[in-house]
Amino acid sequence: MSALSERALPGVRTLEPYQPGKPIEELERELGLSDIVKLASNENPLGASPRVRPALEAAAAQLALYPDGNGFRLKQKLARLHGIDAARIVLGNGSNDVLELVARTFLGPGRVALFSEYAFAVYPLASQAAGAELCVAPALPRDSEQPFGHDLAALAARLDARVGVVFIANANNPTGTWLEAAALERFIAQVPPDTIIVLDEAYHEYMEPALRPDSRGWLDRHPNLVVTRTFSKVYGLASLRIGYALANAQVADLLNRVRQPFNVNSFALAAAEAALDDDAHVARSVAANARGLKQLREGLEALGLRTLPSQANFVTVDMNRAATPIFQALLRKGVIVRPLASYQMPNFLRITVGTEAQSARCIEALREVLR
Ligand SMILES: *Cc1c(COP(=O)(O)O)cnc(C)c1O
Repeated sequence: MSALSERALPGVRTLEPYQPGKPIEELERELGLSDIVKLASNENPLGASPRVRPALEAAAAQLALYPDGNGFRLKQKLARLHGIDAARIVLGNGSNDVLELVARTFLGPGRVALFSEYAFAVYPLASQAAGAELCVAPALPRDSEQPFGHDLAALAARLDARVGVVFIANANNPTGTWLEAAALERFIAQVPPDTIIVLDEAYHEYMEPALRPDSRGWLDRHPNLVVTRTFSKVYGLASLRIGYALANAQVADLLNRVRQPFNVNSFALAAAEAALDDDAHVARSVAANARGLKQLREGLEALGLRTLPSQANFVTVDMNRAATPIFQALLRKGVIVRPLASYQMPNFLRITVGTEAQSARCIEALREVLR
């Protein structure tokens, strides 16, 4: 066995696996608990739009057929929504898939993937698996307005001809921090034209309207820009795995060549189409999140804890001591949150905004644990 593991490619051998939020069923099995609250994976506590279920039932009539490998209808809808040609859209099995497509297309041995400290864990995973070298730019200091957030100057200072892809998350996970739109576009304009910029906007809909950048407008000015979006967060479709990229037509064409022919299944396609028809559900989810963010932040601050500013659907909180034992104590109370030791933030927990009752239960459990 050791010989075979030696045979794996160097980038794969040293890969640290992604640590997902703990599944509810797993905690049920381990502790025999029921009534578990999971606030660990930034899922929408309101669930998906009610329009999705009938769409899934209709799709079930075609179980034996391969999905539309081009996702024609969904791309048409997205094209209309974003005012962009459908040839500039790439669908993925989650936006995670799109991130991997970018890595497999533009990274490899001899190329560098650039991203910030405390950026989303999939950037190093996808890049290293593709054989690229990683360059991690230091994040903003703790006492800045965006503690642990991306430092655009530090990223810009590391741009050179070897950088194949620079990954930016706005807002970022696991910090919740964001970038000012004008500063972000100035950064994008500084990136050499043959370096790809991935702007990961998984939390775009949750950002305050005034802070949401006009990223699809930027696409015309910056052909090396790839904007990624997902149906996993505000659309509440995380289980189905569907996301997409908006890009220059040449880049989209390249990504589509690398893509598995049927990477997005029929249920995901049907659900995403139905979800796009329900603006009211998105608006409700966004409004509930704004209330929930305030509830969590105030609840945590009342416990004497400091939170990072967030434009996403979670709050990252400084426990002022090792947070993993606190995470474990919360598990015993049936509350699953996310410890951030794997992000080199061992004193922090990331807590997803739940329903009002779920967030209240989390705060109460935390109060008991800290007592
Ligand atoms: C959740 C998340 C994604 C989306 O992942 P999917 O594969 O679309 O479920 C992408 N980027 C960031 C920063 C995220 O937090």
